[in-house]
Amino acid sequence: MSKLILLLFLGLVAYLVFKGITRSASRRRADAPPRAPEPERMVACAHCGVHLPESESLERNGRRYCSEEHRRLADS
Ligand SMILES: [Zn+2]
Repeated sequence: MSKLILLLFLGLVAYLVFKGITRSASRRRADAPPRAPEPERMVACAHCGVHLPESESLERNGRRYCSEEHRRLADS
């Protein structure tokens, strides 16, 4: 008899886990924007040539740098 209760309990746990997975999966789908956001423009560091997002780059005299150090090095 206790085996039957255990089986019912395991079935309930499995059901709840499955329900949780499917619910979070459908929520992810619903939260996804209808269109992918515009990919950010990539720029190359004028000193070392590494590519990085434009918003993370540092600008000086119209040239882009990956870090303060490279901007300083390009200056001297
Ligand atoms: Zn650089």
